[in-house]
Amino acid sequence: MARIPVRRRRRIVRLLLAWYRVERRRLPWRQVADPWAILVSEILLHQTQVDRVVPVYRDFVRRWPDPTSCAAAPLADVKRVTDPLGYHVRGGWLHAIASRVRDRPPPHLPRTAAELRRLPGIGRYTAGAVASIAFGAREPLVDTNVVRLFERLFRLEPDGRRALSPQLWALAATLVPRAAPGDFNQALMELGALVCRPRRPRCGVCPLEPVCATRCPRLRSVRFEAAPTGAVPAPSRSRARRGGRSGGQNRGRIGGAAGRHGPGGVR
Ligand code: SF4
Repeated sequence: MARIPVRRRRRIVRLLLAWYRVERRRLPWRQVADPWAILVSEILLHQTQVDRVVPVYRDFVRRWPDPTSCAAAPLADVKRVTDPLGYHVRGGWLHAIASRVRDRPPPHLPRTAAELRRLPGIGRYTAGAVASIAFGAREPLVDTNVVRLFERLFRLEPDGRRALSPQLWALAATLVPRAAPGDFNQALMELGALVCRPRRPRCGVCPLEPVCATRCPRLRSVRFEAAPTGAVPAPSRSRARRGGRSGGQNRGRIGGAAGRHGPGGVR
């Protein structure tokens, strides 16, 4: 596994969190701490532009503010709210998750990424997002924005799209701080979406410029082990542009290897 010096890691965390606390977009799911609302936002954001998600998210949590109310609603009602966003399977998954957890004591959802992944439709990304953002668990996230950011920040060799997905996740895991893991994960994705964009990255306003290997050639690149035969392919570039998710190991689940709010998003 690639190693990042502790000082560099700490500096990345400090710079990124400071930037995020000032520059982050004020989105409705960032104003709440309720795990159900955070899970709903994660599932609605799958392969969908943030500005389209905002009104649907508001409508959804107003109608069904907890799993109990969602599970009691007819599935057709839930889908009527979520289907206009496309990717029609997510309404069914939200309803199925609600039905599965409704009888658990509040906040209903399990706290660990491993348990979350046992719920219908929840992949590694969504489990990590909910565990870290809602429960403060030290879980990493990797989406297409994070892959691109890591490629540039660490000058990955070989580049992240050809590297094994597990190595990217391991790299992300070494960075997640004990304090504010959810903020850190969201900050990584936010920076990838707003600043370290696919085209024309805004290095002049990037908080990580002093620690970016692409901008500072004296900084060492990060070398991954060569991918063995049968490695999980990284997200395709077309999917990355859409901000969509991919990842063969999570096919059919929300939150595989790629992300929730792409460069065109307004999250
Ligand atoms: S300095 Fe530029 S290339 Fe490096 S992380 Fe920031 S935006 Fe990306």
